[in-house]
Amino acid sequence: MDKTLYADVILPLALPQLYTYSIPESLAKVCSIGKRVVVQFGAKRFYSAIVRSIHPNAPLHYQTKKIISVLDDLPIVDELHLRFWEWLASYYVCTLGEVFNAAVPASLKLQSETGIQISPDYADIKPEDLDVSLEEFDLISILKQHENLSIEELSEKSSSPKAIKLVKSLMDKGLVTAKEALVEKFKPKTETFIELNSEYFEEEKLKELFASLGKAPKQSNLLMSFLHHTDFFNRQSKGQLPIHTSKKILLQHTQTAGASLKVLLDKGIFKSYEKIVGRLDVAENEIFSKKPLNEGQLEAFHKINAQFEEKNVVLLHGVTSSGKTEIYIHLIDQCIQEGKQALYLLPEIALTAQIINRLKNIFGDKVGVYHSKFSDAERVEIWNKTLENSEQKPYQIILGVRSSVFLPFYKLGLIIVDEEHENTYKQFDPAPRYHARDAAIVLAQMHQAKVLLGTATPSFESYFNAQNQKYGLVELLNRFGNVKMPEILICDMKEARKRKKVKSNFSEMLLSHIDDALKAGEQAILFKNRRGFSPFIECKTCGWVPKCVNCDVSLTYHKHINQLVCHYCSYSFPMVHNCLACSDTAMEVKGFGTEMIEDEIALLFPDAKIGRLDLDTSRNKRAHETIIQDFENQKTQILVGTQMISKGLDFFNVSVVGILNADNMLNYPDFRAFERSYQLMSQVSGRAGRKNKQGKVIIQTTQPESPVIQFVINNDFKGLYAWQLTERSKYKYPPFYRLIYLTLKHRDLPRLNEAAGALAAMLRQRYDKRVLGPEFPMVNRIQNWYIKNIMMKIEKDLSINEVKRQLLDCISALKQDERYKQTICQVNADPM
Ligand code: ADP
Ligand code: ZN
Ligand code: ZN
Repeated sequence: MDKTLYADVILPLALPQLYTYSIPESLAKVCSIGKRVVVQFGAKRFYSAIVRSIHPNAPLHYQTKKIISVLDDLPIVDELHLRFWEWLASYYVCTLGEVFNAAVPASLKLQSETGIQISPDYADIKPEDLDVSLEEFDLISILKQHENLSIEELSEKSSSPKAIKLVKSLMDKGLVTAKEALVEKFKPKTETFIELNSEYFEEEKLKELFASLGKAPKQSNLLMSFLHHTDFFNRQSKGQLPIHTSKKILLQHTQTAGASLKVLLDKGIFKSYEKIVGRLDVAENEIFSKKPLNEGQLEAFHKINAQFEEKNVVLLHGVTSSGKTEIYIHLIDQCIQEGKQALYLLPEIALTAQIINRLKNIFGDKVGVYHSKFSDAERVEIWNKTLENSEQKPYQIILGVRSSVFLPFYKLGLIIVDEEHENTYKQFDPAPRYHARDAAIVLAQMHQAKVLLGTATPSFESYFNAQNQKYGLVELLNRFGNVKMPEILICDMKEARKRKKVKSNFSEMLLSHIDDALKAGEQAILFKNRRGFSPFIECKTCGWVPKCVNCDVSLTYHKHINQLVCHYCSYSFPMVHNCLACSDTAMEVKGFGTEMIEDEIALLFPDAKIGRLDLDTSRNKRAHETIIQDFENQKTQILVGTQMISKGLDFFNVSVVGILNADNMLNYPDFRAFERSYQLMSQVSGRAGRKNKQGKVIIQTTQPESPVIQFVINNDFKGLYAWQLTERSKYKYPPFYRLIYLTLKHRDLPRLNEAAGALAAMLRQRYDKRVLGPEFPMVNRIQNWYIKNIMMKIEKDLSINEVKRQLLDCISALKQDERYKQTICQVNADPM
């Protein structure tokens, strides 16, 4: 009887199914679920794939290839997380390979166009002594001369058309391997540590030692420092071993050169060794104890715990600065005391610097940070330190952005989703187009963990769930320390312009408040949700507007680089001062963005230093931290920014916030426009307010009568919610209906129109009026792809899984039509 076992593996490719490989007997013992294996896929290519399952059933329709090698000693992902991947793929309508790609850092999914080499077992054997064919002998000889050739390179050097086949047969014989090339690009960072030879642990011996060093003051000094710095006697008496310190820190502390240390090492008084350290622990934070909660916070804390008894998810609705973060800290502490891990999700990295410090001050190196601007090596390190089987002590707390839901937690107890309303939690491109808050709730369920959603401005979805008892709800109505909510002043810009009380983009009202603040040594924040200098420029005579060559959108003027830039594809073009259509007329700058505000405010307040926080100024990890720190340390007095500044930053000296143009938020053509405008305005306003002084917010708008503005003034979230809910119900939007957007793209416009029409017709046959469109989006061509959207509105009681199955059916039917093969179809479930 054939006892061959087979493995179904997930390849890091957008394939519709898993592939089955046979497990050679030599690997049978080491091949297990969640480990990476090297497999061949397609004619030339090798990949590291993840083993999903192992079974004795050969596939019916194809001859299996063998697994070439197993990369991991221990699985890098466990059964639970593989099930989480499967949920993501099914709910967000994508492939497991796409989830694998998004989930795992690049170094953990090596592809082997790179590596072939002689197996270590045969490395010392002469090619002559191997039992190989002449052609194989050739390849082996080449490999002996060149380390780490890719199969493609090997094929060129040998000028043998059969190279692939030969490599394969050599692999079958075990003579060459892809393994070494595929193993770990990633090298852990090590640091040298110094330890005292245990001979000197006895007091007598130590005294003798000091005596013997009498004539070498630098050496005694170093020894003394070591004892002092490691708290030697205290630790020794308690048996807390090892007693060591990093070489770098020891030398810094004693201000000695390495020479004395070397002597002590040579004499065998000290021992040194390399130890793997995280490259992430940039600064060692001093550890403080948690701040005790005040009465209101304590009550909320107990209520949350009580509701967790019955509910898996609790929404903490607390006004800005009510002290939610402190409550999170107490909950996290409680969770890790129980020996479980906690995940603290943030919408955006701009926020992390402040929170990292708050958490590290309390939890020290128990905290790991994970975000998109880390290098891949750093990500791998965190990945490994989240696993239970890692050689190092695993992290107990992970602070991270949306992709941290993929980390291989071994035992999650709590997930905090801070600023749960933020739309940056939703991944837009590429697939999986997941919402990290919703994914976190599913992940928590799998771990039997609890989820706390925190925000001052809940998403309608979450608030709806809380109202319907699906989630618990806890409210915090006051700011911490009885700091008052800011006073919100409306400036009617139409009126102000009429009365000539406007300088460029600023009302006199706003300017005088900024002036007062600066004179009192306080700071101001100015918010405008558009980056760049001006959204577009226009010819005064003929109305010509420079547009992107790749996208159907006007170019944004960026003055500092003197370029016109496309915000969709980054295409840029030198600023034009004369119209290119009617040649000699001047161009006029239209609208305004953060860059223009920065320039103008600098002219109006020449003594103030100004910082700007938007996508352009914060491209790298350090840049945005510096901008925020400079403002915190009051090196800058005015901070200009986009929505980036609205997110949970805590500045203690800001007394004025200016919202420069509420209109473009209110007029945005989207069913969530009012919800968003309210969130943005309330959140930005929340940055104002000091211990003993009420902050002021000035909203400039031409629609002062808009109900949204009234709700903002009265801090009336519930009013806004009640008002909007009727609209949502009437027009079949969330939270009553689920939405699915379908985006179709094609290089050829008529073809796109046909394909979109055909798909919509197919869907209508099954779902009738629930299907809307196809329609062109606001920007209907991006990077030379024409775009059309179809929207589906699905009742909550219809099986969403069934709808998605039918949808995939229709898409694959469309793709089978020769004419529409080239159409790209993207599915976006629960779009934001
Ligand atoms: P939120 O997260 O609700 O916006 P924070 O937790 O950032 O509010 O709290 C606002 C401010 O109040 C912070 O400066 C924080 O340090 C301070 N604070 C909150 N709770 C406490 C507490 N229990 N003891 C001392 N300070 C606190
Ligand atoms: Zn012109
Ligand atoms: Zn473009």
